[in-house]
Amino acid sequence: MTTPLIYDLDLPKLAATLKYWGEPKFRATQIWQGLYQNLWATPDEFSNLPKKLRERMAAEFSFSHLAPVTSVNSSDGETQKTLFHLPDGRPIETVRMRYEKRRTLCISTQSGCAMGCVFCATGQMGYLRNLSSGEIIEQVLFYARQLALEGEQVTNIVVMGMGEPFHNYNATLAAIDRLNDPEGMKLGARRFTISTVGLIPSIERFADEQRQINLAISLHAADDELRSSMLPINKRYPIADLMKAVRAYTEKTHRRVTFEWALIREVNDTPEQAYKLAALLKGMLAHVNVIPLNPTDGFKGQATTPERAEAFKTILENHHIECSIRIRRGLDIQAGCGQLAQKTG
Ligand code: SAH
Ligand code: SF4
Repeated sequence: MTTPLIYDLDLPKLAATLKYWGEPKFRATQIWQGLYQNLWATPDEFSNLPKKLRERMAAEFSFSHLAPVTSVNSSDGETQKTLFHLPDGRPIETVRMRYEKRRTLCISTQSGCAMGCVFCATGQMGYLRNLSSGEIIEQVLFYARQLALEGEQVTNIVVMGMGEPFHNYNATLAAIDRLNDPEGMKLGARRFTISTVGLIPSIERFADEQRQINLAISLHAADDELRSSMLPINKRYPIADLMKAVRAYTEKTHRRVTFEWALIREVNDTPEQAYKLAALLKGMLAHVNVIPLNPTDGFKGQATTPERAEAFKTILENHHIECSIRIRRGLDIQAGCGQLAQKTG
């Protein structure tokens, strides 16, 4: 059995453990702040704790499940991707992007993914396993520590790395709650974006929870035939049902939803798809993010051209739908959307 990962505990659980060890009450907060505010990575760094307690922490908890294997930097130095191995050898990847004042992390929630979207490298590798909440958190701590050395902080987190976050709902939300904690990392809920391929029951649950976290839906096609050909999950949760759930979400939360669309030349970058998408989103609190397809080994489709992307955007804007064309980042290190897989560099 692997030793429990300390980041898997929420504050009440940590407090209960310390109480059981016979420690005074304030120790839990001290440790919590050491982990999430001071970003201490090993028990040795807890110089405010008695040696015996540090030794017990070292014996009973693991302080790291993520073994960095390789880190690669994009040629402009603004994007870095790290491949980690989990204790069972499963791979995950985390990406750090610098853009103006933002320091955004793209984190994984699973090793691999079960959803099988045809153009996605993670989908092409299949599902290996869910991450625990602590393993999700440790990706953030890894980069928070690295940024702290340069006097910087994580500003935003996108849950768009490997895996489908709503296929690992509890661990994903528990991780965000812990990173959110005002006594800990203090990352405001609005700084998080969860991207989902469209698992309707989870979208409904998320709507009911009335969280301030941003939601993005990977749509990529505006009719069922095309969407099902690329995103197998569409056969189970077709577009009409998905849009109904998303509309219910915006009505309940009054929060704007982002729709993601990887533009594939002559496939979903056509005026016909743009008009259909405009019809789907009519009157909705929505924003469309289009991104030229990033190449992956297992998919033959080509990226759109800048002209076709502009034309797609213009049609949406003519229908009063906001659309931005995302810049592809980290392409030279396979850190772009949908390119995260075992292969690194
Ligand atoms: N599983 C979630 C989050 C991870 S994927 C989801 O699918 O939403 C993050 C985003 O990258 C999704 O919008 C996904 O559709 C997109 N994506 C996947 N492969 C891509 C590719 N080859 N090029 C561009 N975007 C891609
Ligand atoms: Fe999974 Fe998202 Fe990739 Fe689809 S696009 S296979 S849901 S990670």
